[in-house]
This record gives sequence, C-alpha cells and structure tokens, in this order.
Amino acid sequence: MSASFSISNCPVCHCTDFITFKDVPDWLVSREVFEISQCASCGFKFTNNAPLENDIGPYYNSEEYVEHSDTKKGIIFSLYHTARKIMLRYKSKKIEKLGVGKKLLDIGSGSGYFMHHMAGKGYATAGVEISEKARSLCQKKFDLAAYTPAEFLEKKLDTDFDLITLWHVFEHVYTYNEYFELFHTSLKKNGVLILALPNSDSIDAKMYGKFWAAYDTPRHLWHFTPKTIEAFASARGFVLIQKHRLPLDPFFNCMVSASYKKKFTVLPITLTKALWAYLVSLTNIDRSSSLIYVFGKSDEVEETQNFT
Ligand SMILES: [Zn+2]
Repeated sequence: MSASFSISNCPVCHCTDFITFKDVPDWLVSREVFEISQCASCGFKFTNNAPLENDIGPYYNSEEYVEHSDTKKGIIFSLYHTARKIMLRYKSKKIEKLGVGKKLLDIGSGSGYFMHHMAGKGYATAGVEISEKARSLCQKKFDLAAYTPAEFLEKKLDTDFDLITLWHVFEHVYTYNEYFELFHTSLKKNGVLILALPNSDSIDAKMYGKFWAAYDTPRHLWHFTPKTIEAFASARGFVLIQKHRLPLDPFFNCMVSASYKKKFTVLPITLTKALWAYLVSLTNIDRSSSLIYVFGKSDEVEETQNFT
C-alpha cells in the first residue's frame, strides 16, 4: 500500500486524539472509501489517509470535475455555468463594498473567469493555478497569465496585495501553514483574505450524509465549519471580519449529492431539499451550505477596520 497523507496533531488546537466522523466514498472518480476524522477536542474534521500530494493527480481525472472544465454538457453543468455568472456579480459586489484597494491575487484561479470579471472592474489581478490546462485556457480566453503554485510558494510573485481570494480552493491545499504564512506576508497592512469554503455543519451536509457532494473525498482534505475555520485562521494571525452566504451552493450541492445517491431523477424532492437548506441558512448563516469568510490581519484590524 502506498504512503498516505495524515496528520498527527490537530491544525487548530494541537490535540492528538481523533475520532472517526464518517466514511465517505470518492463518488466522482475512484469509488475508494476515505475516512473523515474529527479532532476529539475542537471538532476540526479532515480526510484521513488521503493520497500524498504527488499522488492526488489521478483523483482529479474526471471530465465531470467542473472546477477546471469549460464544457457545457449536461443539466448540472449547464446550471453550473449559468450560476457562475450570477456568482461572479455577487462576489464582486461583496468585494467592492469592502472598500479596500484594487490589487487582487486569486489562488486557484481556474480558467480565469473571476480574474477577468474583476479586471473589468478596474482591479489589477494575478492568479495562481495548479492545472496547466486551466492556465492555458485562461491565457487563451482572457489573455491573462496565471502562476503555478510552486512559483507562489517560491515567492516569485509580487506582494502588497489588497485582497487574496480562494474560492473553494483552500480545502484542497496540503501545505496549509506555508499558504497561511504567505497570505500574511503577501497582503498589505490593511489587506483582506477571502476564503469560500463548504460547511460540514450545513443543513444539506446533514441531509445527505456520506453522499454530500462537498465532502468530495479525497480531493477535499479539510472539512471546515464556521467555528473551526475561525479558530484555524486566528491561530495563524487572521481575524474574522465578515461572513456571507453563497446562496446558490445549496442548490448545486443538493443536486450533485442527489446524483451520487442516484435520486437525481426525483428533481422536485431535490429542489425542495435545496430550498429548505437555503431557507435555513437565511435564519442561521452558520448552517449555510458554504460560506465566504473575510479575514483581516489580526495585528492590523483593530485600528483600521470600519467594515459593516
Ligand atoms: Zn482540534
């Protein structure tokens, strides 16, 4: 058996005592079952024994891995592409309201849609993307170049960013401490870090259990909740400033989860569940399917922030 990725200390509270949370198959590619473990002290969840970073490539080999695709076939993926347009506007409005500067680094920039959208609003954008195919699409389609993660980690990029964004990306990152250190050094004094993450405390996670699409083992290594990401970031010099819903995620997650459960044909039931998940999130943001977290550097926030 090949070596696997495991952690011996909780990245949030350093506890060494873990319990089994759930066994979750890789529905998308391999059908292998991975255990999600949970810190017995703080509740932080992670995929235990995921493949090592050098061995994870084949687990992304799915035509259906829409994050890097630019195709428009199938109902879920057509909806995904339409949703992307709506979400680009939603994200940019939230960002413009922050009132910080306009130098932006998007990590996990994919085919460059977000960079392109923000460039159209006057932002100077840089991207970091692991997939060569996505980097080349980004160049071809938008004439925007993205760096490789190695170039980012080797500090070959400019610094002094006003914003660093990771849209559903950080849950894939192996070297989380290196990344957080670089977030800190690459951001200006008043800069903000924006992480969009699935919420394993969400109502749709509870409804679908091991079929929940956003467990996405073994590609998702970390299964944050509002509580655990706040503590995780706080331990690394960041303080939470704002939280926002990602209002379309319950619909996307419920539809993909239902397809894993082979219940996608019962569309009205799936949509009712998604609507319920959305309505619950309106009354309790911490039960949202996914959240956008806005962090500032903790040593700067007190004197600088007037965020609403
Ligand atoms: Zn812990």
